[in-house]
Amino acid sequence: MNLKELILPYIYNLKPYSSARDEFKGKEGVFLDANENPYSSTDLAFNRYPDPLQQDLKDRISAIKNIPSKNIFLGNGSDEAIDLIIRMTCANQAGNMIVCPPTYGMYEVSGNINNAEIRQVSLNSNFQLDLPKIFESITEKTKLIFICSPNNPTGNKIDRKAIYEILDKFRTGLVIIDEAYIDFNDEPSFIFELEKYPHLIVLQTLSKAYGMASLRLGMAFAQEEIIQLLNKIKPPYNISGATQELVLKGLQDLTDIQKNIRSIQESKVELINYLIKKDFVVKVYPSNANFILVVFRDSKNLFDYLIGKEIITRYRGNVELCKDSIRISIGTKEENDKLLKNISAYFEES
Ligand SMILES: *Cc1c(COP(=O)(O)O)cnc(C)c1O
Repeated sequence: MNLKELILPYIYNLKPYSSARDEFKGKEGVFLDANENPYSSTDLAFNRYPDPLQQDLKDRISAIKNIPSKNIFLGNGSDEAIDLIIRMTCANQAGNMIVCPPTYGMYEVSGNINNAEIRQVSLNSNFQLDLPKIFESITEKTKLIFICSPNNPTGNKIDRKAIYEILDKFRTGLVIIDEAYIDFNDEPSFIFELEKYPHLIVLQTLSKAYGMASLRLGMAFAQEEIIQLLNKIKPPYNISGATQELVLKGLQDLTDIQKNIRSIQESKVELINYLIKKDFVVKVYPSNANFILVVFRDSKNLFDYLIGKEIITRYRGNVELCKDSIRISIGTKEENDKLLKNISAYFEES
């Protein structure tokens, strides 16, 4: 892979905005450079611009993930990283990207926002990559292949051998592995393959296992030159000071995070064991994530009924290969109990 050829020339050659906080990096001093207000009008003290490159936060994430800070990009959710990756390679039909539905919808939406050519290669009936079709659909203009593992909305992990095959054979563009649900999975992350595969980008997020969706923090891990390109095109202060501060605090001690992951995993097993015994359940797909995809006998009506009971699940019956299915996020024990009671009540009434 040659980044100079892969990245759009106006991005590759872009001279980035240099913010006041880029030009002076010290923490002590009289700061009269950024037109900030010297007074904090609230007791929250957020009157100063935050660190544009989030160094303290990256150092903490680096320690947790065992990956150097220089290989980490932080975005306003991983959705920001997805957008930037597409924007710097595929915008305005300059390149095409391969996505494998049913999968996370943002790849396609971001592709469309950026007017990228999107090539869809559906997963096979086991929700695994259809390698022959993927390789067939690669063209000279293919710059990105998106792989989501564990996959959303199906919940399964993608066969590692198939991912390696793509990494090994598709060397002219970037392979993006979205690991939003990796912490619910027992397999190692692909972040440990970054040195071997300079065309790999791994996405993770604090929105799921880490329980910080509202703070909006997504991570992209890649070789340093890719990280620098992403930094160059991101809005200068894309991660707010509040987010940087609160996430650092939230990551000080991981005990509770790990405890909550375990309890979600236990609840998932309980939920699955309950559902598979019921005659109104056609199928519960295996899940390596914090949600399950379930085919019920009467999914759409059940979904509507549950909404009437103020239980909100996600109907996925309109999604290809997911006919009649509902995606259910694992809740607290009480929430799951309420869900199951209402599902049973629906089928008793109908
Ligand atoms: C939830 C999810 C994300 C999360 O994105 P954020 O913007 O970080 O909240 C990314 N990818 C997949 C597959 C997801 O399901």
